Amino acid sequence: GNEKLSWQDHIRDVPDFPKPGIIFKDITPMLADGAAFSAAVSELAEFIGPDVDAIVGIESRGFIFGAALANKLGLGLVTVRKPGKLPADIHSVEYELEYGVDRLEIHRDALSSGHKVVIVDDLLATGGTASATVELVQKLGAEVVSCLFVIELGFLSGRKALSGTKVCSLLSYN
Ligand code: IMP
Repeated sequence: GNEKLSWQDHIRDVPDFPKPGIIFKDITPMLADGAAFSAAVSELAEFIGPDVDAIVGIESRGFIFGAALANKLGLGLVTVRKPGKLPADIHSVEYELEYGVDRLEIHRDALSSGHKVVIVDDLLATGGTASATVELVQKLGAEVVSCLFVIELGFLSGRKALSGTKVCSLLSYN
């Protein structure tokens, strides 16, 4: 037929990654399709109001969407990174994984009191990663206007973990 594919059609299910029983949502085919990537970023941009001062991207797929979005809107991008990557003075927050803990870091001078930011990542699962990022932003005295995701795995209740913060996603699997 003649039907046009939408960006959602370029997300691929990869079974048993990174472990048996997990179905991984793979966005790389969407990134590789110029029209699909552009359409998804345009949809993200519709969620950003005029009061937003900066985009905060979470390593590493959050950098891809965060950078494209920030650039489209003429906003700056603040990077929240895995441990040991940021060179200057940092704040660090530890968060729970299924087995063990991990850490995320932000430069202390990346944001100031009163700044309003939107946090961006590719996918919301349990919400642990995004919650830690909210904590980092708040340590700097900045305000989280919302957390924005391309994909939300609704059955993992990430919204609950982020209660108190506005959550938006383009596509939810339940
Ligand atoms: P959470 O902390 O449990 O919400 O997990 C979200 C983080 O894990 C995000 O940074 C995602 O990039 C990553 N993630 C978890 N599951 C998937 C998936 O199925 N596809 C892509 N990324 C995932």
